[in-house]
Amino acid sequence: MNLRTDRMSPKPERVEVLGVGVDALDGKAAIHLIEQFIAEGSPKIVATADASAVVIAQKDRRFRDVLEKADLVTPDSVGIVWAMRRAGVGIENRVSGIDLVDAICKLSSLKGYRLYFLGAAPGIAERAADKMRLKYPGVNIVGTHDGYFHRDDEAALVRTVRELNVDVLFVAMGIPKQETFIAENLFALNAKVAMGVGGSFDVLSGAVKRAPRWVQSLRLEWLWRLICNPRKWRKVATLPKFWWMVMRTRRQPR
Ligand code: UDP
Repeated sequence: MNLRTDRMSPKPERVEVLGVGVDALDGKAAIHLIEQFIAEGSPKIVATADASAVVIAQKDRRFRDVLEKADLVTPDSVGIVWAMRRAGVGIENRVSGIDLVDAICKLSSLKGYRLYFLGAAPGIAERAADKMRLKYPGVNIVGTHDGYFHRDDEAALVRTVRELNVDVLFVAMGIPKQETFIAENLFALNAKVAMGVGGSFDVLSGAVKRAPRWVQSLRLEWLWRLICNPRKWRKVATLPKFWWMVMRTRRQPR
């Protein structure tokens, strides 16, 4: 898999969390960098790393390679923010995929960026797009597709995205499927930015509710998601493992 991209933008500090590089930046800086990527024009990969992603990357070499080559990896969970602080790098808040989708939709309504929503069950990406069109009139979502296409249909889908000249492609097919899809098709898709955004369309469409603000502020969104969707237990079960693995590493002085 050749993932070499043209990395001309000034890069934030990349901090190792259990061998996975995560960029030390806040949401505003992430958006600024993504706008630079759009301006540069050559395909860039953006990933959002939460604790379960880092645990998966320990065993999944292909996934780890994609994260390593990604042009931006945001700290997408309180666990990652905590581990980065232990490594001596202070970050205020996490930078989640859904917050980036929201912010980029807003920017698209102001600047015309061409967005494509790929992923989730049939109808969900379109519903999420409609919600964004209501929230940000003028947002330029040029296409949507579900994330359950047959392998035989992948080439046609990639061609469709390519022909639409997309600025930002959001891929919501879960970790690590979305990242491997992006990496395998990066140059064929020719989107200026391709970003894995997990369950974002489920939430934006209203199919899955995000935790209330007070739960988010207590940093217990993961517990809320588990209660609402017990199938998430597998993901949550990686958290103690993540915590234990980080605790075994040496704390760095601030
Ligand atoms: N999904 C998909 N294609 C697949 C498998 C999953 O589009 O082959 C979608 C699924 O419907 C859901 C999203 O990927 O909308 C994964 O959401 P989750 O919250 O599990 O993502 P993660 O926890 O990996 O960020």
